[in-house]
Order: sequence, then structure tokens, then C-alpha cells
Amino acid sequence: MKIRNRLNPSNPCFSFEFFPPKTDEGTANLLKTLEDLAPLEPGFVSVTYGAGGSTRDRTVELVTRIKRETGIEAMAHITCVGHTPDELREVLRRLAEAKVDNVLVLRGDPPQGQKSFEPVAGGFRHASELVRFIREEDFNFSLGGACYPEGHVETASRDDDLRHLKEKVDAGLDFVITQLFFDNAFYFDFVERARRIGINVPIVPGIMPITNYEQVQRFTRMCGATVPMRLGLQLERVKDQPDALVQLGVAHATVQCMELLSRGVPGIHFYTLNKSPATRMIVSALRART
Ligand code: FAD
Repeated sequence: MKIRNRLNPSNPCFSFEFFPPKTDEGTANLLKTLEDLAPLEPGFVSVTYGAGGSTRDRTVELVTRIKRETGIEAMAHITCVGHTPDELREVLRRLAEAKVDNVLVLRGDPPQGQKSFEPVAGGFRHASELVRFIREEDFNFSLGGACYPEGHVETASRDDDLRHLKEKVDAGLDFVITQLFFDNAFYFDFVERARRIGINVPIVPGIMPITNYEQVQRFTRMCGATVPMRLGLQLERVKDQPDALVQLGVAHATVQCMELLSRGVPGIHFYTLNKSPATRMIVSALRART
């Protein structure tokens, strides 16, 4: 099933993002988690692409197994990091062979220790180049990409970033998924600006339920997402009370999702960080409301 056909504001879909576990036991646990999530009828799940080596093979394996063993639609992420075009073609060929229909095309972050992104010799510098490459090759994927309501961390200005997004979409994206945000105003403003410059593909909001204080600090530092002052103060107050922190994180994300749904988003993508109970609580609450 092509995800582009599943993104519909009159019947929005929920999707869940996971990273590939490092061990076979971890993979078995994740597949079990997915069975538990199946009753929530996710539109699709997606599996991230790591920085190198065996974790990358695990992305392809996991997506293949999710499709085969759970019947849930699964999308593979892929990045330009450390890959030549020939290597990328081979990964894509394996995905196509496994009947994977959807790929999230990313540039990837600079590897640890490097300040800026440098492609390998002959490799791609921007995600848009990889999108163009996939479209020129004989693949038939539905393609998604990343976008940044608050601007990508490396960009000089949000307008520049948006222009680059337009280039990437024009290269052949069917939909985009946003970086996480905690204040919906960033998303609504971003969608409005994107539409104004002719970006017409579905823009799926990405939501991360906060479940860990240090983790949210680390993530927001890395990706530049703003924690609204009131939420920041509330988190500070419960940072040493794990249960209260999860409750706060779930409550905040649920309220965010309710507003997003009421304003007609085509879907909501949850960054689960492989901790699905928080996401399950939110989606159950959202389903109960409809
Ligand atoms: P690009 O679209 O190439 O943009 C990167 C930067 O380059 C931006 O600042 C952009 O403005 C600029 N740029 C683009 N085109 C041009 C141009 N022509 N000239 C000048 N500047 C330009 N990372 C992983 O490693 N694995 C994953 O699985 C993964 N999954 C993700 C899923 C989602 C939904 C999101 C939002 C992010 C994900 N990331 C993942 C993180 C992502 O790889 C990083 O944010 C990365 O830094 C940028 O990737 P991109 O695809 O947005 O890059």
C-alpha cells in the first residue's frame, strides 16, 4: 500500500516510528510490541536508518519482517550518509525485492565527530539529490521526506530551508513528515508558508511523547525544537518523578494531537523511541474521542 494514498484529512492515519533494535531478542520484542499495537490500526510504521554497518541491514530486515509477519504497512528510512549511489541502489533494490512500497528519503546527520555533512566521493549532498536519483531509476516507491517547522538546525533562515524543501518535493516526494515540535503554532505557520510557495503534498506532523527528562533535553538540543516555557517549567517540576513525567508528556501530546486533528491534518506520526506504552495511551484516547 502506498502511504500517499493513506494520507487523508477526512480519515487521518496514525503512524509509529521505531529504530531497529541491536539484538535478535530486541527485534523479537519489537515485533511483539507491534502485535500489541495492531488493534490501534496504524496506517503504517516506519523504521529508521542508522549511522552504519549492521544496524542498516537491520532496517531492511525489520521492515521486511513487519510487512510479512504483522500485515502492518512498513516504511524504510534511508540516508545518504557514507553511501555511494551504487550502494544506495543496492539497498533500494533489496527493499523493492521485499515488496516494500514506501521509503523515507533523508540526507542524514553528519557522523559523530564531524561538524558538517560531507558526502562520500560521488555521493549525494542533499536529500533532494537522492530523491531525484530514485525517481530516475526504475523504482516504484511512494517517497516521503523530512521537513522542519522551526527550520533545520543548519539552515541560515527558515525561508531558505523552505525553498530547499520545495526543491526536494519537486524532485519527487509524495508527502513529508515534520521534525518533532511541542507547540502547534510552529506547525500551522509552517503549513501556511509551505502552501504559499506551492508545496502541496501532505505535511504530516511528527509528535514525540515526552517520557524522559534528559532525553528531551538532548533531543531538543540536537534538533532545535522549542520547549514552550510553561511545558518546560512543568517538566522541571516533575523531572525526578518518572510516572508523573510520563503522565505530563502523554497529556501534552494528547492535547497537541486533538488540536491537530480538529484542524484537519492528514495523519500523525509518533516518534515512539521504541517505548510504545505512551503512544498507545495517546492513540487510545484519540480513538475514544471519535
Ligand atoms: P536535506 O533535505 O538535505 O536538508 C539538510 C539541510 O540542507 C537543510 O538545512 C536544508 O535547508 C539544506 N539544503 C537542502 N538542499 C539544499 C541546497 N540545494 N543548497 C543548500 N542547502 C540545502 N536521520 C537518520 O540518520 N536516520 C533516520 O532514519 C532519520 N529519520 C528521520 C525522520 C524524520 C521524520 C525526520 C524529520 C528526520 C529524520 N532524520 C533521520 C534526521 C535527518 O537525517 C536530519 O535532520 C538531517 O540533518 C537532514 O536530513 P534531510 O533529509 O532533512 O536533509
